[in-house]
Amino acid sequence: MLEIHLDRLRWNYLSLQKRLKKGTDCAAVVKADAYGLGAAPVVTELYKANCRHFYVAHASEGIVVRDALNSLAPHGEKGKPGGKSGDAQIYVLHGPRGVPAEEFSQAGLIPVLNTPQDIEHWAGFARKTEKRQPALLHFDTGMNRLGLAALPDKTMLQQLDIRYVMSHLACADEPDHPKNGEQLNAFKRLTAALGLPCRLSLANSAGIFLGADYHFDQARPGCALYGINPATTGQNPMQGVVTLKTRVLQTRDAGKGETVGYGASYKVSIPSKLATISAGYADGILRSFAKSGAVFIHGQRCPVVGRVSMDLLVVDVTKTVCSVNDWAEIVGEHQSVDAVAAAAGTIGYEILTALGHRYKRAYLGQEE
Ligand SMILES: *Cc1c(COP(=O)(O)O)cnc(C)c1O
Repeated sequence: MLEIHLDRLRWNYLSLQKRLKKGTDCAAVVKADAYGLGAAPVVTELYKANCRHFYVAHASEGIVVRDALNSLAPHGEKGKPGGKSGDAQIYVLHGPRGVPAEEFSQAGLIPVLNTPQDIEHWAGFARKTEKRQPALLHFDTGMNRLGLAALPDKTMLQQLDIRYVMSHLACADEPDHPKNGEQLNAFKRLTAALGLPCRLSLANSAGIFLGADYHFDQARPGCALYGINPATTGQNPMQGVVTLKTRVLQTRDAGKGETVGYGASYKVSIPSKLATISAGYADGILRSFAKSGAVFIHGQRCPVVGRVSMDLLVVDVTKTVCSVNDWAEIVGEHQSVDAVAAAAGTIGYEILTALGHRYKRAYLGQEE
């Protein structure tokens, strides 16, 4: 059972918005199906919390977001299809090429232009439609991933309606990293040299916590909305949004010298009680979680023994009362997404986006 607490998602969004300096808009990054939580319910809830800017990676994801927003009932008229969400902006990080330009534009998507070729392509569409088509401009300021490396052709830009100029931070989760200040300065330098009156966006979740200098006109948090700690150190200021629990399918006693699971990699050293849990690597429980991972049954920590298989894992319940059909909590009040990630040697982002689609899902705490 995968429970997604929409009330906590809203709380996280509002608390991030509150942290931003006055005049800064808080967007929401909802790429990869809202980090695995479900784009449609997440976007719907964020829209109700007054979020009006959404980022996806692919155009196809943007169409899902637009459909979700279009089916929103306008306030005060419950149950009636709205189309009232036309005030929401959807930005496509991977640029304008996922679908034909006409389709892109008709779905109300705004491309992030990352290359001179992107700019040419979108300016061509603007000339064809005799309309200054909306777009975002992305400068690379040191990440060397996506974004323009140099100032673009200005006559081409003048054919477009540049809504924001953005860049992306590489090390925002390490507040003392010198790269943060370097990127901030590069961003200021580039946007000044561009010489266009443009709104600016730099900060991801962790960037928000670097302070007001990084906020500009719009912030783009993703992970913090979904309860991941945006800083690598210190207490998590966000609320956990996900509860993941699954049933005990079987319990058994194992004697000294017996082995557990594939490869017989774990050998029982004292007479033990084992429980087999209905979750495996096909459900996003990484194989590397076996090394030091655990689940919680009746609030007791039960370590994983043996390898994680596709659909199952086995835990040691010698020290707890455990019966068939009991709940085993993987993520929840006893164990955060970040803790699961640490045990698996990865980051919370990878745990959430790997959750898969076999769990029964429940969306709780929706605003009426
Ligand atoms: C994914 C992404 C974000 C969100 O980052 P978080 O660390 O999840 O807050 C912001 N901006 C860009 C360009 C991204 O690709």
